[in-house]
Amino acid sequence: MQTLRYYFKKAKEEKWAIGHFNFSTADQLKAIVGGASEMKAPVMVATSEGEADFVGYDQAVALVSSYQKEGCAVWLNADHHKSFESAKKAIDAGYDTVLIDSSRLNFDENILMTSQVVGYAREKNTELLVEGELGYLKGESQVQEAVEISPADYTQPEQAADFVSRTGADRLAVVFGNIHGVVTEQEEKLDIEHLKKIVSVVPETVLVLHGASGLSDKDVADAIAAGISNVHINTELRVAYHNALHSELDKEPSQTTPYKFLAPSQDAMKELVKKKLKLFGSVDKI
Ligand SMILES: [Zn+2]
Repeated sequence: MQTLRYYFKKAKEEKWAIGHFNFSTADQLKAIVGGASEMKAPVMVATSEGEADFVGYDQAVALVSSYQKEGCAVWLNADHHKSFESAKKAIDAGYDTVLIDSSRLNFDENILMTSQVVGYAREKNTELLVEGELGYLKGESQVQEAVEISPADYTQPEQAADFVSRTGADRLAVVFGNIHGVVTEQEEKLDIEHLKKIVSVVPETVLVLHGASGLSDKDVADAIAAGISNVHINTELRVAYHNALHSELDKEPSQTTPYKFLAPSQDAMKELVKKKLKLFGSVDKI
């Protein structure tokens, strides 16, 4: 199996993006890996701190490595780990990659914490990739009415170059109009021109679009064409899983067998993953 680093290099050169999908149960993970395998697309799966606490760090690694042993091109990311300790926990458990999200700190403190995680990761495993985050990415991975979006929160290009060279991070999560989650009372719009300015100062770095749930297909495609090589989807998957579960329980209220009442949720999630992988251009890349 090729490495995640190999696929990022290829994605950057060929202008497509690797999908990144969160899970918090084994059946959700199976839906994502199943969808990606059918599409012959390399894929990242992930747990946030909350999702990892629910699944178990060692258990998440064991589940994903069971698919890797079968030859699936899947890698496990620790999504938005917010302290050195939690990032270390994921690295020690055997995660393939980690996002140290210290973007709430001031610039120098963010660099310090990110560098600390990069240093620790390099010591443990040279193939382990580290993502840093710069800019203020608002919103939660759920359905919200509105989230204030301001250019003042965007990733500043001059800081991006400095951040990457001082931390040695492999990937950078950037903010250019994106927010986490889905908003119902507002249009989410990416500032592609701003993204281009960031790309021009860090041409070698893998740039990551977080919060792609709720964005138009056109915005996502434009962002990939402009230099995004990794796209995160969480909320839309949660909504698909939840809605299918809701309607199944309404339809069959006496059904108590989990593998029966969860099957439609798993199918809904798998279909959505396949649709997103087509949008990202990552089909038939394995
Ligand atoms: Zn995110």
